[in-house]
Amino acid sequence: GGGAGRGVGGGGVDVEAAAWEAEEMVKALRGIDGVLDVRVVEDPAAQRTVWKIREDGSGLATRSVDGVLSWPGWEDAAVPPRNLGAYLRDFHRLLDQFGLKGVVYGHFGEGCLHVRLDFNLQSDDGVAHFRRFMAEAAKLVVAHGGTLSGEHGDGRARSEHLPTMYSDELIRAFGRFKAIWDPRGRLNPGVIVDPAGVADDLRMRHRWRTPRVELALREDGGELGRAVHRCVGVARCRTGSGGVMCPSYRATRDEKDSTRGRARVLQEMLLGETVTKGWKSPEVAEALDLCLSCKGCKIDCPVGVDMASYKSEYLYQRYKHRLRPASHYSMGWLPRLARIAAKAPRVVNWVASSKITSGLVKRMGGIAPQRRIPAFARRPFTEVFDQGLRQEPLPEKSVLLWPDTFTNYFAPAIGQAAVRVLRAAGFDVLLPSRPVCCGLTWLSTGQLKAARRKLRHALRTVAPVVSAGVPMLVLEPSCAALFRSDATELLPDDADARMLADNTYTLAELLAKFAPDWEVPKAKEGEQAALQVHCHQHAVMGAGPDAALLRATGAATTVLDAGCCGLAGNFGFERGHYEVSRKVAEQGVLPALAAQPPGTAVVADGFSCRTQFEQLAGIRSRHLAEVLAARLDLESTQAQRL
Ligand code: SF4
Ligand code: SF4
Repeated sequence: GGGAGRGVGGGGVDVEAAAWEAEEMVKALRGIDGVLDVRVVEDPAAQRTVWKIREDGSGLATRSVDGVLSWPGWEDAAVPPRNLGAYLRDFHRLLDQFGLKGVVYGHFGEGCLHVRLDFNLQSDDGVAHFRRFMAEAAKLVVAHGGTLSGEHGDGRARSEHLPTMYSDELIRAFGRFKAIWDPRGRLNPGVIVDPAGVADDLRMRHRWRTPRVELALREDGGELGRAVHRCVGVARCRTGSGGVMCPSYRATRDEKDSTRGRARVLQEMLLGETVTKGWKSPEVAEALDLCLSCKGCKIDCPVGVDMASYKSEYLYQRYKHRLRPASHYSMGWLPRLARIAAKAPRVVNWVASSKITSGLVKRMGGIAPQRRIPAFARRPFTEVFDQGLRQEPLPEKSVLLWPDTFTNYFAPAIGQAAVRVLRAAGFDVLLPSRPVCCGLTWLSTGQLKAARRKLRHALRTVAPVVSAGVPMLVLEPSCAALFRSDATELLPDDADARMLADNTYTLAELLAKFAPDWEVPKAKEGEQAALQVHCHQHAVMGAGPDAALLRATGAATTVLDAGCCGLAGNFGFERGHYEVSRKVAEQGVLPALAAQPPGTAVVADGFSCRTQFEQLAGIRSRHLAEVLAARLDLESTQAQRL
């Protein structure tokens, strides 16, 4: 069987009276057959969560449980509240009769129901079926003393059926009244007084194209059309704060730079009527250019529009067998270049930073001139790692530490800090037996075939160890997110990809799951920490364990909810993106950091976030591993003194 939730809002100025009313309601509801549980939600944060479900209702209802798309049309009928029960029963009978399904939500107290139904709008028969249903539903709601549109307007969806509700005389009166103000019929033609048929201009009748795609798009049956039509247009992506979605819109305030704007342009591209050149359409290039691939929409959009994936697919299709922008080589091939640079890091760093040569390097690499190229470490982490039990027979409590490119070649101290923490928590640390890369930078620049090759090689390297029961720790959040989520989009049939998705952890997750009794090193008295959650971590893993771990150290911890840092991997380094990258940071996270009490430790696991803070505001931030390792060092120094 299935279950459904229902929220009932109560309020009033008198808290005691409201509490009493709530209690009475709980008692009454508990007595009703079929009610499984009733809870009163008093905590404001929990109330916000409940309301978010309600606010996202229209988005959540866009597809039925079995994944079939649902559409508006009959989404706003209302009846007098006393008739609601009878109407609902008849309405469900009507749905059964027409073989339709939908989740009903909305304002039951007012007798107004929202619902999206799984009409088939892509065939002539389906559209005829839709028309018949609309006519019958109109008769039904009127028979129950109701109205076709309870809360919103009649518009094109319901004008044709207004005569079911109003007399001909009244409709004619509407027409005469409108003609006084609009004698030439220019305002909103085809609506209410001279209605067009409900199915006359259905966009879905022109079936979208189904180009072959390289990513699996598993949630959408491999169909880009279904994926981009997730967007229902409720515009949560046009908010100015909270969550991550959508940083580019927050920076430019231009619809085309919002998730919705991009989804619409891709929809048009697939329909081919106004955006006509397919993947080569300039409108598509323009709409996707400022997408940071932050994955914010993947989690913050109520229907999980995943624009970062669509952008990867676009970049793949657009540049397949063609010369790519320079940044796709300089930053897309970063892991490969980093391996070469590691042979002579001092020379490379000099060339990349010297006034004489850095301009040329940036020009050749498609890098924004305002950016400083991060310096390569003298020795990669994999070289300085004290080998310990590297690939020895597996001890009971081992962890495989993934040497991501950023930790390995730019910040080996983070890898060493992680080893220090892991050993203190009782783990033996293993490294992969050969150089590896998850393919992240190839994925984000749309070089999907190369990304798949890198990933497959990585999986074959680590799978034997992980399948023997050793969890894998990934310190860089975007690489962790790749294993947890993107890997199965790149290699949907690969058993190792699925296995790694289930066995890859962030540091905080790993410690919480495999070392729950470890005594976390304590923070100094009065220590404050501000946690910047990397966007990909926000979207895929969440940062609950990170915040819990920091709090367990005793540090007063604030999780910054100020959005993306604006750098987002290659995005902020690419020529032409600097201003938007900077603006994103200046509108969200930099003011949030500035508002922290002096001396607050800034914790940021993402290489991008740390680089952005440092380059734009001179703020030093540290990986969680470094914070914990520093405390361990402090504790052992203090112990030695005693
Ligand atoms: S992309 Fe924006 S408008 Fe579309 S469903 Fe998501 S939040 Fe709503
Ligand atoms: S990936 Fe980020 S920038 Fe791109 S559309 Fe989604 S939220 Fe906006």
